[in-house]
Amino acid sequence: MENPVAIRLQTVHETIAHACKSARRSVDDVTLIAVSKTHPTDLITPLIDAGQRVFGENRVQEAQEKWPELIEQYGNIELHAIGQLQSNKAEDAVALFDCIHALDRPSLAKALGKAMDKLDKRVPCFLQVNIGAEDQKGGCMPADLADLIAITRVSNIPIAGLMCLPPVGIEPAPFFAHLAKLLDDNGLGPDGLSMGMSADYPIAVQLGASHIRVGTALFGER
Ligand SMILES: *Cc1c(COP(=O)(O)O)cnc(C)c1O
Repeated sequence: MENPVAIRLQTVHETIAHACKSARRSVDDVTLIAVSKTHPTDLITPLIDAGQRVFGENRVQEAQEKWPELIEQYGNIELHAIGQLQSNKAEDAVALFDCIHALDRPSLAKALGKAMDKLDKRVPCFLQVNIGAEDQKGGCMPADLADLIAITRVSNIPIAGLMCLPPVGIEPAPFFAHLAKLLDDNGLGPDGLSMGMSADYPIAVQLGASHIRVGTALFGER
């Protein structure tokens, strides 16, 4: 019998295809990041066996414990850091990850730039925007984005695009649309929007997401 995780992967692919079709987009322009945070490797390997190669983790330490062995075993894995990052973890993050989604402040840009210089490895970063201007959330305020872009460029960090986590419990579409507009306004487009999670990735794809970060819909509840 097929593994439940593999069956869920197929369902997510079908949902992405449907959303792409209605938005007249190509499925090739949407990268599915399987968010494996908190899940043990024996839940992750069936997904790799089913063909998934792009994964996301929140915590540097957890990723260090889980992924080097899997990468050695399977090769050809793309690992994304999607969670809040402390500056003192910048070097570890640059060493392990292929892409970072939560560059949200000048001090972190400087730390990441330094780490990339030291390791001679340039890791593309999404700039996280606090799109709902919520007190508790990470991300730079939309008004501060231009400054963060400038400092990221000075630090010689490749900008992958913009990332957001919209406020919980309200319609996300206006926030996704706002992020897409900020990408365009700042001349970062047309691709490079990390937005959409299990609850809202179809709408994010319709509004231009290039990277969706999906955990629960693949692995079940954490
Ligand atoms: C956990 C997490 C996700 C995945 O959330 P699900 O609702 O499980 O799909 C996506 N993005 C970030 C930043 C996360 O922390």
